Amino acid sequence: MALVVQKYGGTSVGTVARIKAVAQRVAKTVQQGNSLVVVVSAMGKSTDTLVGLAQEISPNPCRREMDMLLSTGEQVSIALLSMALQELGQPAISLTGAQVGIVTEAEHSRARILEINTARLKKHLDEGKVVVVAGFQGVSNGEELEITTLGRGGSDTSAVALAASLQAERCEIYTDVPGILTTDPRIVPEAQLMDEITADEMLELASLGASVLHPRAVEIARNFGITLVVLSSWSDAPGTRVTSPSPKPRSLSGLEIAKAVDGVEIDTNQAKVALLRIPDRPGVAAKLFGEISRNNVDIDLIIQSVHEFNTNDIAFTVVEDVLNQAEAVSEALAPSLRSQPTATEEAEVIVDRQIAKVAISGAGMIGRPGIAAKMFKTLADAGVNIQMISTSEVKVSCVIHQDECDRASQVLCEAFDIDSSSLPVSSASIPSQVPPVRGVALDRNQARLAILHVPDRPGMAAQIFGLLAEKNISVDTIIQSQRCRVINDIPTRDIAFTVAQGDAEIARNAISELAKTINCGEIIVDTAIAKVSIVGAGMIGCPGIAAKFFSALAKENINIQMITTSEIKISCVVAETEGVKALTVVHQAFDLAGKDKIHVPA
Ligand code: ADP
Ligand code: ASP
Ligand code: MG
Repeated sequence: MALVVQKYGGTSVGTVARIKAVAQRVAKTVQQGNSLVVVVSAMGKSTDTLVGLAQEISPNPCRREMDMLLSTGEQVSIALLSMALQELGQPAISLTGAQVGIVTEAEHSRARILEINTARLKKHLDEGKVVVVAGFQGVSNGEELEITTLGRGGSDTSAVALAASLQAERCEIYTDVPGILTTDPRIVPEAQLMDEITADEMLELASLGASVLHPRAVEIARNFGITLVVLSSWSDAPGTRVTSPSPKPRSLSGLEIAKAVDGVEIDTNQAKVALLRIPDRPGVAAKLFGEISRNNVDIDLIIQSVHEFNTNDIAFTVVEDVLNQAEAVSEALAPSLRSQPTATEEAEVIVDRQIAKVAISGAGMIGRPGIAAKMFKTLADAGVNIQMISTSEVKVSCVIHQDECDRASQVLCEAFDIDSSSLPVSSASIPSQVPPVRGVALDRNQARLAILHVPDRPGMAAQIFGLLAEKNISVDTIIQSQRCRVINDIPTRDIAFTVAQGDAEIARNAISELAKTINCGEIIVDTAIAKVSIVGAGMIGCPGIAAKFFSALAKENINIQMITTSEIKISCVVAETEGVKALTVVHQAFDLAGKDKIHVPA
């Protein structure tokens, strides 16, 4: 008899009729000879309704009371589903997170699961009952047994954590779309279903705005090698499999807080090209990377920083062998990129062979801002200056001077308890059938902060991002400008990054305080931005992907405000008003759109 964990989201249990339909499906799965744990979300939009009630009372309610309030939503749906099952003659029992023994940290509204005591669950399963578990909630591990929640969308994480703890045969996430699609069908109805996606790709997509799976659920599935499937609760279609490599054995205790960093990577075979003072207008990145890809040169990191006046800087790294070609293309293009007919400054190309890339990687860094901060602090303490930073949810890469690579790798391995550093993934290890771009995502919930004129010396990133980590603010897309401005004899650079909109003011206030001691300039906040990203493991070693992305935006006259990349994703920040158009055209440019429209229940 196989043990299966099924999870049903809000829309799937949104009405009594839907709950009855779910009960039918559950009963059928049991009749097929399976033993079943069912995790459910709150009915329909009821969590949003509860949030609305709280906001009518307080603009900033305390997080403990929010957990008390929001956890009630799931308690309604577990009881109703259990009744519906009993009505069908299927023995069932509903349990809250605390009753199940889902033990979490005492961090209200964003608790991580520490362990699940499965004894009671197993007892009820042995009695032949379906156990219906409230998703999204747990109980704190301290003396005072406090109700905690895992963060919005967290029922997926409850389900996958249960599957890991029970060593279930598979975890099925039932939702209101047929599976994981090339993008959100509510924005682009031509989105297409994929049969499978790697956990690494899904981690990026989920954290870049594809709300179909909670990123932490994907992280647990990847870490424990759980068979994870996303499918529709309206049909019997097979949905999408999220595939994971065979995991290293790991303990179930400290489930979500185990080792955050799995590896330290170094790459000395890199060179940097930076174009300074190029015009801040649509089409420039497309032209540059279009030329480069026509020369068949593969780019690794790309970074475009905040603009100063009306110019931008773009920097990218390539393997050393092709540096000459990349430089030649950039030099040839630079004169035509004069910012304005009247401008006195002309675009300038800077090349640096003496660089190396060091990166830390690991799914455990999701939502833990302290990890990137620790990397910067470790490098600063070793006197290593960071020239470029590029982040993704599962990786932080820093470009440093080549001579400092060995030292950087050694201190990072020590700090993160890694035996030895490794080389980055090469395109040779990517199966050839993997498409270069698997899916695209839009995140409209971001704000951009720029700190101008930060002194260019080791330790600045460590201080800034250490402070934000203390405030529990997750930072995405960190960019240091290439351009160096000397202010009062001190060389300075600008640092820009994005955070969730809700954290923007807290971040601004925290940094304003710090700015007084580190002597940096103005802090600029822009909340009217959107981030459009493309994700695919197949883009490694496949020239021209960035160029295609940028030229799709240029054709629509959409200006790119920031660019960051990791091996398997490219993100562009654009004006918020252009987000949906940008997503639609990029989806089309990579031939991801199909003829049939996806039907999404209201
Ligand atoms: P549930 O309540 O079942 O957890 P969610 O609303 O959390 O449902 O997630 C499903 C929704 O995710 C879909 O209705 C869709 O609008 C959105 N979505 C965003 N990106 C994607 C994507 N790439 N594939 C499928 N759905 C997506
Ligand atoms: N009900 C919670 C929410 O709306 C958890 C979930 O649905 O996964 O965020
Ligand atoms: Mg969800």
